[in-house]
Amino acid sequence: MYDDGYDHAAVERRWQDAWDDASAYRIPDDAEDPTYVLGMYPYPSGQLHMGHVRNYTITDAYARYRRMCGDEVLHPMGWDAFGLPAENAAKERDTNPRDWTFDCIDTMKGQMESMGFGYDWEREITTCTPEYYKWNQWLFTRFLEEGLAEQRDAEVNWCPTCETVLADEQVETEAELCWRCDTPVETRELEQWFLSITEYADELIDYIDELEGWPDSVRQMQRNWIGRQHGTTLQFEVGEARSASDGRGERGEPREHGDDAEYGAVEAFTTRVDTIFGATFFALAPDHPISEELVESDEAVHEFVHHEADPEGDEPNGVETDLTATNPITGEELPVFVADFVLSDVGTGALMGVPGHDHRDHAFAEKMGVDIVPVIAPEPGGGDDPEAPDVSEEAFTEDGVLVNSGEYDGLGSAEARERLTADLEGASHHTQYRLRDWGISRQRYWGTPIPIVHCPDCGAVPVPEEELPVELPEFINTTGNPLDAAEEWKHTSCPECGGDAVRETDTMDTFVDSSWYFLRYVSPDLDDAPFDLDRANDWMPVDQYVGGIEHAVMHLLYSRFVTKTLADHEGLEHREPFTNLLAQGMVQLEGEKMSKSKGNVVSPQAIVSEYGADTARLFMMQAAQPERDFDWSEQGVQSAYRFLSRFKELVEAYAADEIETTDEAGPIAGYVDGEIEAAVVVATEEYDELVFNTAVRGAQSLVGTLRQYRDYTAVHAETVERALSVAIRLLAPVAPHLCEELWETLGEDGFVVDATWPTAAADRETIEKRQRLVENTREDVRQIVDVAGIDDPERIDIVVTPAWKHKALNVAIDSDAPNVIGELMQHDGIKRHGQDAASYGQDLQETREALQRTLDPDTELAALESAAWLIEREFDAEVRVLAADDAPGATAAKAEPSRPAIDIEE
Ligand SMILES: [Zn+2]
Ligand SMILES: [Zn+2]
Repeated sequence: MYDDGYDHAAVERRWQDAWDDASAYRIPDDAEDPTYVLGMYPYPSGQLHMGHVRNYTITDAYARYRRMCGDEVLHPMGWDAFGLPAENAAKERDTNPRDWTFDCIDTMKGQMESMGFGYDWEREITTCTPEYYKWNQWLFTRFLEEGLAEQRDAEVNWCPTCETVLADEQVETEAELCWRCDTPVETRELEQWFLSITEYADELIDYIDELEGWPDSVRQMQRNWIGRQHGTTLQFEVGEARSASDGRGERGEPREHGDDAEYGAVEAFTTRVDTIFGATFFALAPDHPISEELVESDEAVHEFVHHEADPEGDEPNGVETDLTATNPITGEELPVFVADFVLSDVGTGALMGVPGHDHRDHAFAEKMGVDIVPVIAPEPGGGDDPEAPDVSEEAFTEDGVLVNSGEYDGLGSAEARERLTADLEGASHHTQYRLRDWGISRQRYWGTPIPIVHCPDCGAVPVPEEELPVELPEFINTTGNPLDAAEEWKHTSCPECGGDAVRETDTMDTFVDSSWYFLRYVSPDLDDAPFDLDRANDWMPVDQYVGGIEHAVMHLLYSRFVTKTLADHEGLEHREPFTNLLAQGMVQLEGEKMSKSKGNVVSPQAIVSEYGADTARLFMMQAAQPERDFDWSEQGVQSAYRFLSRFKELVEAYAADEIETTDEAGPIAGYVDGEIEAAVVVATEEYDELVFNTAVRGAQSLVGTLRQYRDYTAVHAETVERALSVAIRLLAPVAPHLCEELWETLGEDGFVVDATWPTAAADRETIEKRQRLVENTREDVRQIVDVAGIDDPERIDIVVTPAWKHKALNVAIDSDAPNVIGELMQHDGIKRHGQDAASYGQDLQETREALQRTLDPDTELAALESAAWLIEREFDAEVRVLAADDAPGATAAKAEPSRPAIDIEE
């Protein structure tokens, strides 16, 4: 497996105990505005999986980094402990959800501790405890008082397998499947409690623009989910076709309508009323009231609605009825279809079809043989008349200028929308949303009881605050809802009239629990309020939130909503809960998502016992940027482990005086100094942005340089000690146990957890230019040796560019002249190099677009001198780094800025 390992288990246990004894991660209640770093709390399902480990390593590394930078850091953890899987697991194992859940929490907490996550466990919260869910109930009654909760008879998504109602968000869109069990979802009518998230739809969507610390993808998903559209509602008269009053000619079927075939004005919604002259059909959703009536009388409609309609399909489908709709502006009679792409829960369930200017309508019209008419032309060039576009193949969907639109011809789309909305009888501006109110009722046991008593006289009465929490009764293993079966619990007296009454037996969606849990951490034990208001005002919002992209619309939208209601009604001074959000990528195996069902799961525990938590953490953080998916790789794990082992060996050898040292700081010490600076600058910038792989790479390369230095010659003790101290600190956020151990080995005081983050003044661009120069030069030497077949180079001369070429490069970069050579020749210092200057000028002219500023010749010389030892060591040859003036003319002539000339003697 590995030869040169270390006793990681002993190291990790030792420091976990030491941190624990010292309460190293405790944040006192009187901390002022700490940096709040939070990972989405897990559902206690049994074991930590790789996704958890990645998520929590990200927050832990960032929390540790901020702490070393001097911040007070709030980094808590808790348990999203209610939910259906616990109930199912309890049934399978003949236990109860509570015991099962707490067993899982025990296990997972132990695993978190073994990963070295630095949480303030004093702030742990568990949502299935009455101490927590009491406040869900309080929140619900507050919503009721503010008119933000109501009971409604509603058609709900019903999973027949889970026997529960699902929120829209829990129905997976492609095929309308249950998010838990993949069963096709049905609909049912039930009395449900709703929270009025739609009241906040505008603020929720408007403020997304301000959430600059959120990924664009999540912001766009929320915008789409809320789905705000500004448009016009307008009325179409729908009735039997006047021109076909004796039957449907095409299909030749007899008509069986009575007198009820006139439907009057039917409301439609459009965002493009400017295209109304191009409306060539009218379409109804399959569950529009008119469609439902037609289903009874028209076999073709019946067949379509029950057997053919496929709202999720790629193609729009529909069936023609024998009705017509009158275009309110032209008076034209449009054929009416029942079509599956019209959704009743979006808009009015009826729309005008404009195939010339809408892609979906176009596809439908082609399929159904409906006319396609252009009525919007692209904005013409200066003075020209607008010209109707050819829409026979494809719709023109942009705004433009109206044509074929009677008196409205020549108007721009935006103005036409205004005018038409004003002119059309019964039309009005309207904003519609895709967002629906949040149905929170669940017919399940393992959740927060909804604190309502149903009284035959008083109706639905909220349980008074002083009687909260309404605690769950003991679990009853039944196929239905256990709360319904808990007779003794269920029967109670009405809080208002004292008469016999029954409790609400539905529980809340667990997303209620997670919609405010981040507030509970500020005062987890408070028993007279959900959170300490002053402290929440000081500590909130969460500065850095990390979790999976799957929460983009549910949890992250509900949390924003609830935060806003608390701001409006409870004095919270923050309207958004999370300033910065990182959605971490997946840990995959051979390109596939790890999942139990596929059997391709790598257990974090196995890695921890074989290589240690530090290795697992380091591998994860160096494998990819946190947002990206990456493949688990045993080789990657081993290489992380090897690095840590070597690092440990180096520090120990230094501390034990086993490394030959000198007091003299030669050029190599200078090189190491530059590398220290580089590592600090890069790591600091990248930790700030949570780009851990780049942050860690610099520190690892510094350790590599030190090992080479030690192997090459006697080291300058002071420089090496400083470098080790820096490397330990830079790696401590990612590999905290080993770095704690090495910090002690090096003889430093206190925990590295509390050590001061190193600083450096250098700027990153210069550092990177210097590193690239050295790396490219080494690569050039390798190529020459290779191409020329040099077995044993004796001496390598590296000649830095003459100053005039550097000057010429800068002149070329600054020049606006079409040909740069003339401009170069105005500089005497360049001109006097005659033919060389002309020929270099020619090169610059040809590569002008790609020219970049380089280090000046003196800085280049110093950088290469300090790195010469690396080349000497690699090729076992004498290396001379020369200024152009000190080198033989023929070699010097080949040197260019950032591309020194190289001459190798065998
Ligand atoms: Zn289900
Ligand atoms: Zn009553």
